[in-house]
Amino acid sequence: MLEINCPYCGKRSQNEFSYGGDASVKRPELGKEVSDKEWDEFIYFRKNIKGKHSEFWHHIAGCRQWFKVLRSTSTHEIFKTAKIEEEL
Ligand SMILES: [Zn+2]
Repeated sequence: MLEINCPYCGKRSQNEFSYGGDASVKRPELGKEVSDKEWDEFIYFRKNIKGKHSEFWHHIAGCRQWFKVLRSTSTHEIFKTAKIEEEL
C-alpha cells in the first residue's frame, strides 16, 4: 500500500486517492487547428515508461484537490508531490 503526501493534507493512505493519468501529456492549444492524428495521439496514446513518471492524482476521500506525483512505475517509490500549478 502506498502512502501519498497530499500537498494540502499531508501523508495519507493510497485508499483515499484516485489515479488521474499521465501528467506529462500536453493538451493541444485551445482554438488551434489540429489534425486527426494529433488529436488521436493526445486522447489515446501514452508512453509506457519504466522509471520516473509524472502523474495526476485526486484526493477523492480528502480535500478533493488534484495534484501531481513523481513516482517510479517499477518500484512505486514516490519522489515528490506538487500542487497542479507547481513544477515537479
Ligand atoms: Zn488532500
